[in-house]
Formats: sequence, structure tokens, C-alpha cells
Amino acid sequence: MGARYVEESLKKFFRAKAWALLHDPPHKMWALYGTLKLTAGGHREDAIKVWEELGLKEALGDPADSEKIVHAADDMASTSDRWITNFAFANMPRVFEYNKLHNIFDPKHQIDIRSLRRDKLEEFLRDLAGELKPFAGDPRRVYHALYALYEVEWAARKLPPSLADTRAPTHTLFDHVYATALTLNLLWPDGEAGGYAVMVDIPGIQQVVGAARKAGDFWAGSWMISTVTWLTLWPFVWEFGADVLLKPSPRYNPYYHATLWTQLGGDHRLWSRFGELYSSLLPRPVRGMFEPRHAVRQPVIPGTACLVLPKVRPDGRELGRQQLEREVRERFEKACELLLALASGEQVSEEPYAAFFKLLSEKEETAKPSARAVVKLFKTIKDAEPRAFEGLLRARVAVLDVGQLYGEWLKAVKGEAGGAASDLLKGLAEVRDELAEKLKADEEKKEMIAERLAWWVLFELLYSELSSRAGRVLVAPKAWFVLKDRTVEPVAEFERFYDSGRGVGYITCTTCGSEPAVLRLSKKVVEPGTLDYSERARKLLKEPPFQLTDKEIDYELKIGVKPGEALGPLCLTKRALYASLKNRLELGFESTEDVAFGFVAPELSGLAARLAELGGEGVAVKRFLESEVKSFDETLDQSAERARAIYERAFRELIERSPEARDAVRRAAKTLSSKLYRIYQVESFEVPEDFATSFRSYYCILRADADNVRRLAKGEIPVDSYLELLDQLRAEAERRGEVSVAEAFGKAGEIVGTLLETLERVVPSPTYSLALSTALMVTALKGTALVESELGGMPVFSGGDDDLALLPAEAGLAAVDRLRALYHGERGFHRVGGCAVPAPVVYGKSFSLRFASILDLMADEVTECARLLEEVAKEAKWARGGETLEKDALVLSESRGGGVALLPLGGGRESLKALEAMWIARLCGFLSANLPEDYERVRDAVEAAAKAGKEELAAELFRRALERNVRPDKLKERPVELLLELARELERSGAVEAPEPHGRPGERSALTVLSRLVEAYRVARGYP
Ligand SMILES: [Zn+2]
Repeated sequence: MGARYVEESLKKFFRAKAWALLHDPPHKMWALYGTLKLTAGGHREDAIKVWEELGLKEALGDPADSEKIVHAADDMASTSDRWITNFAFANMPRVFEYNKLHNIFDPKHQIDIRSLRRDKLEEFLRDLAGELKPFAGDPRRVYHALYALYEVEWAARKLPPSLADTRAPTHTLFDHVYATALTLNLLWPDGEAGGYAVMVDIPGIQQVVGAARKAGDFWAGSWMISTVTWLTLWPFVWEFGADVLLKPSPRYNPYYHATLWTQLGGDHRLWSRFGELYSSLLPRPVRGMFEPRHAVRQPVIPGTACLVLPKVRPDGRELGRQQLEREVRERFEKACELLLALASGEQVSEEPYAAFFKLLSEKEETAKPSARAVVKLFKTIKDAEPRAFEGLLRARVAVLDVGQLYGEWLKAVKGEAGGAASDLLKGLAEVRDELAEKLKADEEKKEMIAERLAWWVLFELLYSELSSRAGRVLVAPKAWFVLKDRTVEPVAEFERFYDSGRGVGYITCTTCGSEPAVLRLSKKVVEPGTLDYSERARKLLKEPPFQLTDKEIDYELKIGVKPGEALGPLCLTKRALYASLKNRLELGFESTEDVAFGFVAPELSGLAARLAELGGEGVAVKRFLESEVKSFDETLDQSAERARAIYERAFRELIERSPEARDAVRRAAKTLSSKLYRIYQVESFEVPEDFATSFRSYYCILRADADNVRRLAKGEIPVDSYLELLDQLRAEAERRGEVSVAEAFGKAGEIVGTLLETLERVVPSPTYSLALSTALMVTALKGTALVESELGGMPVFSGGDDDLALLPAEAGLAAVDRLRALYHGERGFHRVGGCAVPAPVVYGKSFSLRFASILDLMADEVTECARLLEEVAKEAKWARGGETLEKDALVLSESRGGGVALLPLGGGRESLKALEAMWIARLCGFLSANLPEDYERVRDAVEAAAKAGKEELAAELFRRALERNVRPDKLKERPVELLLELARELERSGAVEAPEPHGRPGERSALTVLSRLVEAYRVARGYP
């Protein structure tokens, strides 16, 4: 294979992909209307003009030879809406003018599209051309730059997105062209369906992430998963183009954009658009500008990824299924190795990974020494016992041959099915026949129907294959021992770095309790409140190979590895990873105390110096508040009770002594009130002074999971709104007197009706699938920004459909409320600059929020929080009026006291808002904490009244109980008024049935939302 051949192949490959992106011009709808045209011709001529304006003719050549294959990809990418255009609008040249974008998951939601100005379009093209110019000499680079910047540049300029097809206004031009580029992979190079669908999945993520003693461990475990997944994908992304990504979405993907930016040379002008985009979507850095490294700070890449690859590589070499599967596995192993390099603070110059390392290395010179001792320790142990660190993460890999599946599908359609997937295929073929019959299709149309269903069939097969493989291929956890000459031997000498010496046998890791420890540092108690390493541990650390100094041990190591800890390879890797990245990524939280005090500590900083003037305990409290990693047992006292006493006594003494200090505390309380106002939106209330100065022993664990994501992916959404949309369009055409168009929409409605009736879902197209993964990506980004920047919490993981976060107890309820609202977007859409990304509005999202003590074992609390989500919230059924809603509920629990309560989140989240109002009224001292006990007297009456259909009576009893528990002089206060208003809205709130949280299997209880609300208050009343 000559260099010239390779060069030509690359050019041809990326030319076709670039043409897939540009085959419709960005201003398509206005070009069709004739209101904004760049040429005298049609929108095709305009597309060529855009190609030339962007300098792509020089860089990639004439797109004419890509026309045919891009046309085929275009058609396949929009399988579901082409039913309408091909059947109903045959031979109708008329352009239907329509300026609304409807949500693809539920067309009921719509937004208006402004018109585009010519000067704005020209400016866009000119600037984009300038940005692409430096890469013109290299087809791969210029394609990547185009792919990454095209939509981002448009969104950043707040330009309105064009519809791809005004007759099917459920997606924008960007949705369409990005899906076309994705689909092209399945048709390359000959136009025949082929290529591969690849799934990479890291099983057991909960165990990997959940094994954590500190908040930092938690973050590191999650970042590990994200980064290993990303580094597995990146070589494919770079080689083939980011369009091969189906999940995570390549659109609005900060990992892609930041890595690519470095790979392209790291020019600052090139960054500015990405920087603008992500500084509005991701948490903002505390100080300074949003830099490229900030884009990979938060774990937003899920542990399950899906790639779509062509059967021929860009350089023209064939790609076989087995070879690809082997390659994916090797990439995964490599990614795990690279992670160890990151934790060791090493640089990697190997292509194409160097870019990611360079991205993270920017601020290394400023790294504070606190990081180094832990990293040094880790590197030494890893180099001495490398086998202990191999294979810490495992992956499931599935590669499906699309050409083969497509062949089987066509056979099944002809009734000659055979092979493994045949039952499923036969069933799908029957659906096709039924459909063909209802549509009275002739042979030619029948074949077309088979083609139309191909993507759907592919997905059905992919899911069925994956779930059957998931069952078959159990991914065993790492084997710590191997059989050698009939004796069982450990894979490494685990005890080598125990301070108790070698040959004592291994002990398990004190953090996760499951892996063998590779480091053990025993402790001694010096005096109450001070913990130190034992003499033996100190000796181990000071001698070779570690050779740490006393200073390093006391000021650096202690933050990362506590005296008394024994750590296994995975847990030690997390510690080192956190230490190694802490400064580079400006990570905030490390201990659970950091989280628990996250809401109040910033407002108390002004008081710290005054506390020190008290001497003694005051100094200790100052030290605690100011320490980079808060630890009550190191700074205050080993007993949490005594730590609390010391802390609160110091503040009391300060207030008594100095009127100025008292004013400062008052001011802090005022600031905290307005902070609470900002996140809960309840006006005019004030928290008392001791709210500012009381010790925080609790924080929140939040776990969330979108309902029915799998059904959503398969197109199982309420289909009526699609018919309503077509009817709405028909009526619109009629109103304008466009009779033939109206008729065509009527016909389309019939076809779609038949289709939906037969399948009971929409047929997911590549456009639909990519829209879903993009919606999840945008939700994930906005979710991390919300948790970190607005609520002062620590996002542990955010995948759009699922979230895991730690929050100060003050912000827990707000986090549930806001994240639930975020999932559905603003009126059904996520606004990203000028662009709109449809939100998956058809299903809800379930939450579990747990108040945990800083004394509890975090790993256990996280597990319990997840259990309650699955076993209680996800199993809830809400009967309201005549309808029954499922899932979409919040389970609220506490680690101490054992309270568990459930609230429905559907509708306008009224019950949650009522709970927030009750909780705030309690904080202000307006509402009695005894409400639940008082309510016991009327509870049975409320339930009985509701059961008998007397809902108004039930609500009245509830309201009276509320009023009885409000301080009489506070009835007119705003939080109370709001509470009573909200209580009125709960009148027809119905009842929720759910499993007993700690009951026997099958045991369920039903209670009105009113009583559930009181139960929820019982859980929340004691916090923060
Ligand atoms: Zn461990």
C-alpha cells in the first residue's frame, strides 16, 4: 500500500464525512423559502457554496464523488420521518413554510425559530473558514476541526438553528447532519449496509466507585471510570472521526473538545468558542478563566459506550470483526495502564494519548507539595509490585457485524431465517409484513419498508445480543491468587510494604474491605485529638525505597493516607489519582467534613481570625475551618461529640465577649439566609444566629436514575403526540389554503398511525438515537454545574440519566428539585447558546436522598442510598384522580434514626415544594418540629377520608394540623403563607403505594401524599 494510496484514501474518507455534515447548508430552511440564499440556485447549490467558502475545496477536494453515498446515509439517518416524505409527499415540489421546532420525544413541546440574518450567516462562514484554515493540509485534522466547531460556533453566536425538514419539524439541521455523518459509517465505502456496532461496558461500577472512605475517593473512583472509557474511545475517535460515537454523544462533549483541542496544537483562538460554550454549561472555576483542563474535571463519560465503525479504515485497510474486538480490548487495557501513569504523575508522549496528558499537565509547576508524598508512595509500590495493579478494572466488549445482521434481516423478511438471532428476526419480519399489508405495499415498497426498519432491527438485535452476552460473559473480579505448581500463590507480594514486616500474611484493605492491602501504616494515639503513625510506620516511610522526610510525612502524607489505614491497589490508586490531580483540576472537596461544612464554611471565614484571639479551643476551631482538608478528629477531637462541643463553645464564647463578633455572626446568618433564598426561592425569611455557628455532622448523598431509559432508547414513547403534531400541521396548511399540502399531511397521519399502531412506538432512527445521547450529555453537564457552582456540592458522577453527588445537608432538597426539573429542560428543551436540544420529557427521574453522618462509613451509606432508589422509589405507584403514575419518586432517608419517606415527583413536584417550604419554616423557627407527632392524632382520619373519596376533608384536616404547629405570631410570614398555599394545591394529590423500605419481599403500603409529606418532614426536620 503506497503512501499516495493512503493519502488518497484518507482524503476520500474525510471528504465524504465532511460532505455528510454539509450536504445541507446550515441555513437550509431559509434557502428553501428563498428568504436567504447564497446563490441563484437551490439549497444544493448553496451547500456547494458553503463548502467552497469554508475552504474545503482546497483542503478535501470536490464533494461530487461523495454525493451518492451521502445521499444514502442521509436517507438512512432519518428513517422514521422519511415515511412521511416518501409516501405522502411524493411528487410535491411545494415548500411548506414552518418555523417551529418540536421535541422529538414528545412533539407537544415546541419552540419558535427566529429568522436568520444574512450578515450573521456570512460572518459565521468567514470566521469558521479562518478557524479551519491552519488544518487545511491534513484531511483528518480539518475534518475534526469542522466537526467540532460547526455546531459549537453556531450555538455560541446564538444563531437560530434551521429545521432539517419543515414537513417533519422534530429535529434541527444539526441533529440531521450529525446523524448523517454517524450513519455514513455503516455504508462506507461501497454504499452497502455493513460496518460494526461496538459496545464497551465496565460492569460493577457501583463497587468501584462506592469503595470510599473520603469524598475524594468517591470522586476519584468515578473519574477513573470516565477517563478509562474516554481513553478507550479516543484512539478510534481520532482515527475515524468523532462521528463514530453514538454514546456518549460527540456533540457538546467536553472530553472530546478538550482532547481534540490539544491534539490540534492547542491554539488559544481555537479554544475561545469551546471555552465560551463550556463556561456556561460546566461548573466555573473559582478563580480565573475557564481553561481547557476544566472541561475534563467532572466525570461525565458513562461507563457504557457505543461506537459505530465502518468496515474499512480511513487509510483503506479492511477491518475485520475479530480484529476489531481484539483491538477494543487492547485499547481498554492500555487505558487502564495510562490511568496508573496519571496517578503516578507521569507524562506520556505516545500518540494519540499525549494530548490528554498534555491537557492535564498545564499547571504542574504550581502543584502544591501536598500532592507529592502520596503520589511518590504510590509510584514506588506500583513499580515494585506491578502485577498487583494490573486489571483493576474489567470491561465487557461486544462487536456486532452490521452487514451480517442486515443480511440475516433481509433473509428473515423473505422467510428464510436461520442462525442465532432468528427468533427475534422472525418476530420483526412479521411486524414488517403486517405493516406492508396495512399500507397495501407492492413488492418494491415492501423492500423499502424492510430497509426503513433496518436501524430499528439493528438496535433490537444489539440490545438482545448485549443482554444475552451480559448474562453469559460474567466479568470476574480480579484474581489476587493464581494456581502455580498445584499451590495457590498471590500475584504479588502484598505484605512487602506493611510496617509489620513481610511474611505475616495479607490483610484486607480498610477502605473497601475486599482487596488485599499493599500498604499498611499503623497508628498510635499521641494525646486525645492527635493521631500519628506508629514508630514502625514512620520507620518504614523514612527508609528506602520511600525515603520520606518527617515534614513530608506530617504535612503531606497524612492528608492522603491516615494513620491506621491499610490500602489495596484500587483504593491506593484512587488516593494517588486524587492527590495527583487535586491542584491541576482544582478539586474542592476531599473529606466528608468538607462537604458537610460546604454551605457555611465560606461565610465563617471572616470570623476565623477572631476565634484565634480566644486562644485554646478557638485556635483549634480556626484551624479546622481553614484547613484545606477538614478533619474533626485531627483538628478538634477524636470524639465527634466533644468536637461539636469544642466548636460550638468557641463561637458562644466569642459572641459573648465581643459585640462586633456578634454582629459578624448576624451578618453571616443573613448571608446564609440569602443563599438559601437563592436555591429555594422562598422569600423573606431569616435563619437564627445559631444556624450559622452550629456544628455540621451531616451531609447528603444523592443518587438519581432516569426512569425507563431503555424504553426511551427503543422508541417506546407515548405516540399520540406524533399524530397530534401531524394533525396540527395539516390544520396549519389548511388555514393557509395549501390544500395539497394539507392532504399530504392527512395521508402522512394515516401512515404514521398505522406504523404506530403496529409497533406501539416510534421507529428509532440514527437521528433519534443521537438526539437522546446528546440530550443526556447536555443534562449531565448542566447537572454538574448546578451541583457544584450553585448548590456548593460535589458532583461525583453525572451521566444525564443518572447522577451521584454529595451535598451539604442545606442543599439536599433543592438538589432533588432542581435536578428533576433540569431533566425535562426549559419547556421541553435545553438551550445551548442559540441552539435547542430536546429533553427526554416523556418519562420522569427517580431520586434517593440520604442524610448521612460524617461518622458513618460512607461506602455503606452510598450502597443503602442506591438500594432505596431501586427497591422503593423505582417501585412506587401513584394513584391520582383517575390516572396511575409509576416511578418518578423521591425516597428520603437518614443514616441515624432510620427514617425513610417517599414523595412523588411527577406533575409540578408540588409535594416536594411543600416539603421544602415546611423545612424552611422549621429552619426559621416558625413551624414546630413536633408536627409529625401531632399529626398522628388525625392521620387515620385523613387516610379514611381520602379513601372514601372525601379528598377535600382530608386536605382540610391536614391543613389544620399544619396551622396548629405554626407559631401563632408567624401565620402571616411569607414561608408560612407559601406553605399553606402549597397545601391547598395538594388537595387532589392522591395516594402513593410502595414497598416497605425494610419490609419482607412483596410487602407494600399505601398512604396519601399528605401523610407521606408529614413522614418526609419527620426525616428532614433534624437537618442540617
Ligand atoms: Zn480497597
